[in-house]
Amino acid sequence: MSIEFPGLPYASDALEPHVSASTLGFHHGKHHKAYVDKLNAAIAGTTYEELPLDRIIVKAHGAADTGIYNNAAQSWNHTFLWHSMSPEGGGAPAGPLADAIDARFGDLDGFRDAFRKAALGQFGSGWAWLVRSGEGLDIVSTGNADSPVISGLFPLVTLDVWEHAYYLDYQNKRDAYVDAFLEHLINWDFAARNFEAADAL
Ligand code: MN
Repeated sequence: MSIEFPGLPYASDALEPHVSASTLGFHHGKHHKAYVDKLNAAIAGTTYEELPLDRIIVKAHGAADTGIYNNAAQSWNHTFLWHSMSPEGGGAPAGPLADAIDARFGDLDGFRDAFRKAALGQFGSGWAWLVRSGEGLDIVSTGNADSPVISGLFPLVTLDVWEHAYYLDYQNKRDAYVDAFLEHLINWDFAARNFEAADAL
């Protein structure tokens, strides 16, 4: 059984002008696909081949199988990223997640400030995440391929801050890319579904 390379949940030009069709086409069709292809090549004929992607991440991390871990985590992270953005994104969360945002960060601007700080503070390549931690929320950043799942956290939404995610559109201005995500792209419906799903765990 090989790991599937999933399609985008929207057209490659659907996030313009905030993420160009060129960036999204390369990011999904080249970068994401390469992680999945390398993972499938690495797990062929091994016991990993029987596992779903999330189990491969945890097992490879525990076994210090670095190549498999990195490609498995990047495969998972990118699928999660596509759903973390939406052509109808931005705005404000609703329901229980909105209450949790206010309780943890004061208000939506407080969330945005904290997320921005995490995304800009990640030195080099990595990810910024809003996570469920127990009953509450937290914001974390991870380096390279690392997933908050291996720290027992439950991801709600993520942003890729590797340069390949924004350099064609924003060059070195990671701050403008992060602001565009927070104002126009963040998929609060996806985050809310994940927040409520965490209750069932
Ligand atoms: Mn990426």
